[in-house]
Amino acid sequence: LADRLQNTIQKIKGKGKVTEQDVKEMTREVRLALLEADVNFKVVKDFIKNIKERAVGQEVMESLTPGQQVIKIVKEELTALMGGEESRIAAADRPPTVIMMVGLQGAGKTTTTGKLANLLRKKYNRKPLLVAADVYRPAAIDQLETLGKQLDMPVYSAGTDANPVDIANEALEKAKEEHLDYVLIDTAGRLHIDGDLMDELIQIKNNVSPDEIFLVVDAMTGQDAVNVAESFNEQLDVSGVVLTKLDGDTRGGAALSIKAVTDKPIKFAGMGEKLDQLEVFHPERMASRILGMGDVLSLIEKAQDNVDEKRAKELEEKMRSASFTFDDFLEQMGQVRNMGPLEDLLDMIPGANKMKGLKNVEFDEKQIAHVEAIIQSMTAQERQDPSLLNASRRKRIARGSGRSVSEVNRLIKQFDEMKKMMKQMTNMQQGKKGKKGKK
Ligand code: GDP
Ligand code: MG
Repeated sequence: LADRLQNTIQKIKGKGKVTEQDVKEMTREVRLALLEADVNFKVVKDFIKNIKERAVGQEVMESLTPGQQVIKIVKEELTALMGGEESRIAAADRPPTVIMMVGLQGAGKTTTTGKLANLLRKKYNRKPLLVAADVYRPAAIDQLETLGKQLDMPVYSAGTDANPVDIANEALEKAKEEHLDYVLIDTAGRLHIDGDLMDELIQIKNNVSPDEIFLVVDAMTGQDAVNVAESFNEQLDVSGVVLTKLDGDTRGGAALSIKAVTDKPIKFAGMGEKLDQLEVFHPERMASRILGMGDVLSLIEKAQDNVDEKRAKELEEKMRSASFTFDDFLEQMGQVRNMGPLEDLLDMIPGANKMKGLKNVEFDEKQIAHVEAIIQSMTAQERQDPSLLNASRRKRIARGSGRSVSEVNRLIKQFDEMKKMMKQMTNMQQGKKGKKGKK
């Protein structure tokens, strides 16, 4: 999806004058891109109609940068399509807040239950209870108990003979007794939607009156995800959607259609298998990501989670000004290491997805030690001004650090690329503010 849209966008971006013909061509491309990405037909139709109306209207014609104005409209409409504002998680007036997780088998319910519990504790300082109400597979109970151990959080389970409705009721009692303020019920799924499953879920719902029902859907399943969302919502009137596996090679269509079809917000996005890989879903950022502007905000937020506020500010400053040195590079590597796999980070940086070579950079412990050795073999002057690093200096550094010259070269090249990337990022940001509209 992103590729196709990006091509179209490159074409229209620099235009000084946008004619009706231009808009027509662009909307045709956008339409094809969306349909190709499995976006629901009716959704596409409305979407295109909105864009057309706005793009040939006054706001574009009177703008100084019509090309960019059109992009802005596309982005705003994409954002609106995915829900506009980001949404919040419910909190009951009288705790515990009950959240029920529903969805097909393999969608990511159990994993997301763990992730959500982790998030509730980390971000909101809450005390969740995990409830194993998927009694049909012993492995499902074990899975949740393992997550509970990993998180050091209580899990309520009653084996495979117990009735899921009873389990939910008992768990609620336990949470009240033990002053736990969130109850997360992990329910059973099926490979396909069926009546028995729905009956059971409806029964649980009627018994515990959940404050939220999160429908967990696998973003990789494209249009199917939308159909699934539609029927679960019809039966259970869910309160929000969690879109999982957005880290995978998804076509992105599900994110665009679900809100439009169900009129329920996407609240969270699963970005990996690990327990900290759940993000609040930001429609605006997702739209940027789809349009290839990169997700600089998420990147900065991620940095903020892992380093303290002040350090994050400095990091942000340095990224913006692209004025960092090898000393900063060394320091940042340590921080990057705390942020998770580099690939995740690269995906968020505009243009970085095109730099395939960078994806192979591995920041493992050993390599960090090597990089450290190389940088420490540089003089203070060289660290501040890498342009000094000619061949003979490089040779000296290689000798000093006990690494090969080619390794030294590679590091310097990586450093340059990183710098370039940051410059690009800064340009994009300025572009967004309308100061600079090139390319
Ligand atoms: P359930 O049957 O709905 O409870 O699904 P599970 O929670 O057991 O998840 C099924 C599989 O999907 C597991 O292998 C998870 O690790 C994986 N999974 C869940 N969420 C994500 C995600 O956001 N990204 C990726 N890559 N994998 C996920
Ligand atoms: Mg499960």
